[in-house]
Amino acid sequence: MNMLTFPDTYVEILPEVRDFLAGKHQLYIGGRWQSALSGATFETIDPSTGRLLAHIASAQAEDVDVAVRAARATFDSGAWHLKLTPSERGKLIWKLADLIEEHAPILAQLDALDNGKPVTKARNVDVPLSAEHFRYYAGWTTKIEGATIPVNTQGMFNYTLREPVGVCGLIVPWNYPLLMAAWKIAPALAAGNCIILKPAEQTPLSALYLARLFEEAGFPPGVFNVLTGFGETAGAALVAHPGINKVGFTGSVGVAKTILRNSADTLKRVSLELGGKSPNIIFADADLEQAVVGATWAIFGNNGQSCTAGSRLYIQRNIYDRVLTGMSDQAAKIRVGMGMQIDQPDLGPVVSQEQLETVMGFIEAGYNHGGKSVIGGKRVGGALAQGYFIEPTIFVDVQDHMKIAREEIFGPVVCAMPFDDADEVLRRANETPYGLAAGLWTRDLQTAHRFAAQMQAGTIWVNTWGDTDAASPFGGYKQSGHGREMGKEAIDLYTEVKSVWIKTG
Ligand code: ADP
Ligand code: MG
Repeated sequence: MNMLTFPDTYVEILPEVRDFLAGKHQLYIGGRWQSALSGATFETIDPSTGRLLAHIASAQAEDVDVAVRAARATFDSGAWHLKLTPSERGKLIWKLADLIEEHAPILAQLDALDNGKPVTKARNVDVPLSAEHFRYYAGWTTKIEGATIPVNTQGMFNYTLREPVGVCGLIVPWNYPLLMAAWKIAPALAAGNCIILKPAEQTPLSALYLARLFEEAGFPPGVFNVLTGFGETAGAALVAHPGINKVGFTGSVGVAKTILRNSADTLKRVSLELGGKSPNIIFADADLEQAVVGATWAIFGNNGQSCTAGSRLYIQRNIYDRVLTGMSDQAAKIRVGMGMQIDQPDLGPVVSQEQLETVMGFIEAGYNHGGKSVIGGKRVGGALAQGYFIEPTIFVDVQDHMKIAREEIFGPVVCAMPFDDADEVLRRANETPYGLAAGLWTRDLQTAHRFAAQMQAGTIWVNTWGDTDAASPFGGYKQSGHGREMGKEAIDLYTEVKSVWIKTG
């Protein structure tokens, strides 16, 4: 048992969280907890302090094989998609949502400790949105329908059936640990699939806790399985395994390309929700007060560790200085601190040492290529020196072709660039291999509709940023991904369509 100590500036760690952290962290397979066959473990740490939180089982290919067999056995038995009625499945998913809500303070502390985000954000955003996601899809179990098709053959009746895909390998990132898992698990469950979840190695805790809630809710064993471990081992083995019918992935573009290659031998269905370099455009006619606050949080929300971060900021030239001054004032007021500290900060650390180095590397490249920061640009020291804290950073004197303006940073760094007219900024906004989100701030309806139609991105925000809803489809154009999560679109991702022909004449 490890004796964890936390800084005395931390909120009180809930007894349930202490017990959970001190316990053994095994793989959850077929309704049972078991260590990795090799006995391998890895450490998960608190990015606010750099201290150890727990030793976690590290699944290898052989564990993946065991888990796939267990999930397949459950799927083939029909225990989930055939023996329960749609309504019974819906009730179980709803019950899971209730349990998430009931255990919200625990789940919030686990994500705050593991990821570094302020615990109030986890409590008020991540956890309730996760519960809502399950509720939305609980309603879908009774609404997944086929169709009758008017075919051109006399005496023939044709209809479609929508069936679950089978066993889904769901691989999720660390930026919203519980929520990103919920985005995938909920529609996969509603459609009748069995699931193997592979949380990110940086943030495995809430996924393990979620497995307990599945148990408590009374799901048939084997419907939900959790394999903790590294991407290159556990993740890669899931992707290659012939017993997995579908991979749902959220993460980086580079890993997505590896996943597509590794899924080729089994021609697996793959859906990908990837990163971006989302353009955020402020026109001179916008409500500037609103735009300044909006653009500030478009990038600094969740510390820039959002796939939709508004990281390329285009400001019309005649308001450029005014907006920058406003944003710098806003950024200067942002309090950076430990996610669990009593006096809650606005932003926590970035998730890991590796992420810290990546982001600092981008900042350095920004300076080297001639950019200047008007605020931020440094790692935070002092009392926060043991954690991975970075100042909110605004870069100016940036050209479109520079590395910091082209590549996803996934940290609290925005590039501000002036523009003169609408045609120019539309072209520049679309000149990117990505297309996850794009936004604009304007009072002009024509501009709003024109940009909504012509910006190449899966989500467009007008005079707002960052809104999502379980009911509204979300996903990327271009290299930001394949497929749409959320809404009824996600049901398509997790179902097969079967066409049935019956001779009647
Ligand atoms: P980031 O770079 O932001 O950490 P990644 O794309 O590396 O994002 O990680 C997202 C998820 O993908 C994590 O769960 C990680 O373990 C997993 N992953 C990483 N590499 C692979 C891989 N080769 N195959 C499958 N999954 C992977
Ligand atoms: Mg961690």
